[in-house]
Amino acid sequence: MSGQRIYMDWNATAPLLPEAREAVLSALGHIGNPSSVHGEGRTVRALIESARRDVATLCGAQASAVIFTSGATEAANLVLTPDFRMGRTPLKIGKLYVSAIEHPAVREGGRFPREDVCEIPVTPAGIVDCAALETLLQAHDRQAGLPMVAVMHANNETGIIQPVTEVAAIVRAHGGLLVVDAVQAAGRVPLSIEALGVDFLIISSHKIGGPKGAGALVARGEIMMPAPLIRGGGQEKGHRSGTENVPALAGFAAAARAAARNIDGRMAAVAALRDGLEVAMQSHAPDVMIHGRGASRLANTSFFTLPGLKAETGQIAFDLEGVALSAGSACSSGKVGQSYVLTAMGYDPRQGALRISIGERTTQAEIERCAAVFAKVAARRRSAGQAA
Ligand code: PLP
Repeated sequence: MSGQRIYMDWNATAPLLPEAREAVLSALGHIGNPSSVHGEGRTVRALIESARRDVATLCGAQASAVIFTSGATEAANLVLTPDFRMGRTPLKIGKLYVSAIEHPAVREGGRFPREDVCEIPVTPAGIVDCAALETLLQAHDRQAGLPMVAVMHANNETGIIQPVTEVAAIVRAHGGLLVVDAVQAAGRVPLSIEALGVDFLIISSHKIGGPKGAGALVARGEIMMPAPLIRGGGQEKGHRSGTENVPALAGFAAAARAAARNIDGRMAAVAALRDGLEVAMQSHAPDVMIHGRGASRLANTSFFTLPGLKAETGQIAFDLEGVALSAGSACSSGKVGQSYVLTAMGYDPRQGALRISIGERTTQAEIERCAAVFAKVAARRRSAGQAA
């Protein structure tokens, strides 16, 4: 291994932005509890409310409809529940329909009983099958409650952008609720909860350059709300009790402000780097399969299979050469599992894939070094294949 390490796993977590670090450190200097009425408390409360406005702006939402949580996983568990209220009236959700490519935070179904969670298939192109969703919702038993649908905005493994407005129209026609995990889309595609026609968005601080351990559930209005997951002192208007993680929220807000700026310009530069890398990869290994290349994809993501190379072996080989990338989504055990996303797209699950995900701070020099490592790994695979 030579030189500095290269971080190409931004979809697992993005490097902390300097302005987010500054905001965290500055917030650590405040002693007040945001629920206290004295001056110290009010200063910290003002920080939280300002953070709420920044996160709302990123999502094209009302600040009052932003509920802060400890991350996207908690936001998903808060909103994915059969137990809702419409104002003061209880509202029952009968079933949850989740796409087959959702992140486990959503795919696990939150607080729905297992038997009430149904899967929406995806097409071989990695896009939610809208015709199948239509059929599922037509068969939905309204007596049991309203249908809830969860479809992500952009997939964390392939980067493929999902037809959210089309899904929203189908869900609306069936009187259902739509939850969209926008964790990977935030800061990479313009977001507007209103324009998308979505009922709830889920976002996470650490995917946009903020600190880990903060996220938000963003609602379109405040009329239909889930029963709280965490009860106690009634913070976040009773939707999420517990003293707020003020430094993390301050960092989240700084990252949200940065993420909302010049998305098209920033992503055009990132796409140029990613596309250049893919061209180099193909020249070194013409048999490389780049998943979702023809589809509308996040600018920063490249998900590929090198025939004859196991994902785990590939990941270790890149790591030993100083390049951090991933084999699909980050998994708490650190193990490399089979990609359920590729399986849902109809690929042989034993055929592994590697994910390179970059960002604004990735440089051309890093792309070139990554391409050189790719060439080495691809050649080794070929000579191993010939020896066998
Ligand atoms: N949703 C998607 C698409 C993700 O990529 C992730 C993180 O990997 C999550 C949800 C979970 O986010 P958090 O780490 O904030 O709980």
